[in-house]
Amino acid sequence: MSTYLIAEHKDGQLKKASLEMLSECLRQGTQPTCILLGHGALEAAAGELGKAGASKVVILEHAELASYSSEGFANALYGYLSKQSPSVIMAGASWQGKDYLPRLSAKFNAGLASDCTEFKLSGNSATVRRPVFAGKCSQAVSFSSGPAIFSVRPNVLAVGGDQSTTPQIEKVAADVGQIRAKVTEVLSSGQKKVDLTEADIIVSGGRSLKSADNFKLLFDCASVVGAAVGASRAAVDAGYAPHDMQVGQTGKTVSPKLYVACGISGAIQHLAGMRTSKVIVAINKDPEAPIFQKADYGIVGDLFEVVPHLTEELKKLKANS
Ligand SMILES: Cc1cc2nc3c(=O)[nH]c(=O)nc-3n(C[C@H](O)[C@H](O)[C@H](O)COP(=O)(O)OP(=O)(O)OC[C@H]3O[C@@H](n4cnc5c(N)ncnc54)[C@H](O)[C@@H]3O)c2cc1C
Repeated sequence: MSTYLIAEHKDGQLKKASLEMLSECLRQGTQPTCILLGHGALEAAAGELGKAGASKVVILEHAELASYSSEGFANALYGYLSKQSPSVIMAGASWQGKDYLPRLSAKFNAGLASDCTEFKLSGNSATVRRPVFAGKCSQAVSFSSGPAIFSVRPNVLAVGGDQSTTPQIEKVAADVGQIRAKVTEVLSSGQKKVDLTEADIIVSGGRSLKSADNFKLLFDCASVVGAAVGASRAAVDAGYAPHDMQVGQTGKTVSPKLYVACGISGAIQHLAGMRTSKVIVAINKDPEAPIFQKADYGIVGDLFEVVPHLTEELKKLKANS
C-alpha cells in the first residue's frame, strides 16, 4: 500500500495538522511518504517530519511553487503522484488543502472526502468519517476505486512523541504545467496572531461585545493563556472583528481543546464551526441560550463582568504555576 501525506508549511514552518496526520498513520502501522511543495529552504520542515517519525520526504521543487496557486500545486502533485500508483493521498483540510485537493482528485478521476475527523487505513484503501449537515450527523465514507483522497480537519488527532528519525529526502523538479492564475502580492494584516484552526484554546465573542474596542477584553484574556480570538458572524458583520476571525459554517472550522464562547447565542451555523471542540465553555446572560445545550460548562452572567474576572484569575493561576 502506498500512502502519501501532503505536508503543509508556511514559509518553511510545518503546519501542526501535517504532524497530526503523520502521527495517526504511524499509530495505525503505516509509514506514509510525506510530500513538501515549495522553492528552497524546506530541509527544516523535512527534518521536523523526521522528528515526528517520517522516514521518507519528497520535496517537489519549482520557483513557481514559492507562493501558493491551486493549479501549480495540483499540477505538480499530479505530475509526481500519477507515476507512483498511490493508493491513499491525504492532506490537511486547511484553506489550501480544500482548494487543490478537488483539482487533484479530478485529475485522478477519483472520489474525494473532505474535512474528515477520522481515518482508518487498511489494505490498499482507507475509510474515513466526516461531519455532515453542519455537524449534526457524521458520515462513514469508503472509496470504490483508488486512490482514496481525503483531507483531515486540523486539531482532531493527537501529535505523537519525538521519534528522532532521520528521513531520506528526495528532491524532485516539479512540473507545474500552465498556471493561469498567480498570486502577485500578499497583503498581511501585520498582526502576529495565533492561527485559529491550530489553536489549542479559543476565546470567541459575539454581537453582544457591541464594538471592536470591546474585543480587547477577549484579547486580554486570550493573551494570558496563549489563546486565539474568534468571533461569530454577527460580530464580523457588525464590523467588530475581521472575517478571518469568523468561526462557523461560512467561517473557519476549529477543534481546539477549549472553546470559550462569550455572548454567543449558539446558532446552528456557529456550532457547525466549533462543535468538535473538546471542551466548550459558554458565558451568556440568557440561561435559555442554545449554546448552553452544547456547552460542557456554562456561566450565566454578563460577559463584561465575567471575562475580566476570568482574566484576573488566569493571571493568578499562571503566576503561581
Ligand atoms: C447561511 C448562513 C451562514 C452563517 N454562517 C455563520 C457562521 O459561519 N458563523 C456564525 O457565527 N454565524 C453564522 N451565521 C449566522 C447565525 O445564524 C447567527 O445569526 C449568529 O451566529 C449569531 O451571532 P451571535 O451569537 O453573536 O449573536 P446573537 O444571536 O444576537 O446572540 C447574542 C447572544 O449574546 C447574549 N448576550 C447579550 N449581551 C450579553 C452580555 N452582556 N453578556 C453575556 N451574554 C450576552 C445574548 O443572550 C445572546 O445569546 C450564518 C447564517 C446563515 C443564514
